[in-house]
Amino acid sequence: MVPFEQAPFYAVRVIPSTMGTIGGVRTNDKFQVLRADGSVIKGLYAGGETANRPFYRRVYTSGTGLGLAYTSGRIAGENAAQEK
Ligand SMILES: Cc1cc2nc3c(=O)[nH]c(=O)nc-3n(C[C@H](O)[C@H](O)[C@H](O)COP(=O)(O)OP(=O)(O)OC[C@H]3O[C@@H](n4cnc5c(N)ncnc54)[C@H](O)[C@@H]3O)c2cc1C
Repeated sequence: MVPFEQAPFYAVRVIPSTMGTIGGVRTNDKFQVLRADGSVIKGLYAGGETANRPFYRRVYTSGTGLGLAYTSGRIAGENAAQEK
């Protein structure tokens, strides 16, 4: 750490953001949310960063978030529409 003593001084506004969860709730291949014991919670689906299962507990790989969001959303939506 060193002091800033000579003008001019400049400032930037920083807004923190997250690139991804690398986690979220656990789901099966239909993106149905699972309980801790692995059983399905009927009627509850999750996709995108709420269920970043493919990369769970791994290092974030740039460019993977949108593909997962689109794909999981489509699969979850199709299965939710068919559920009785
Ligand atoms: C700076 C940055 C750069 C990135 N670059 C890339 C990249 O180059 N390639 C890539 O693949 N991924 C990238 N990502 C990651 C990617 O953007 C995310 O993984 C993806 O957008 C997640 O999609 P999502 O639908 O899960 O969530 P989001 O896109 O966050 O969508 C969630 C939506 O829910 C809405 N919402 C929240 N609460 C409520 C509520 N109570 N009621 C109704 N709506 C609500 C929000 O407004 C939002 O529109 C980047 C992320 C960041 C932050």
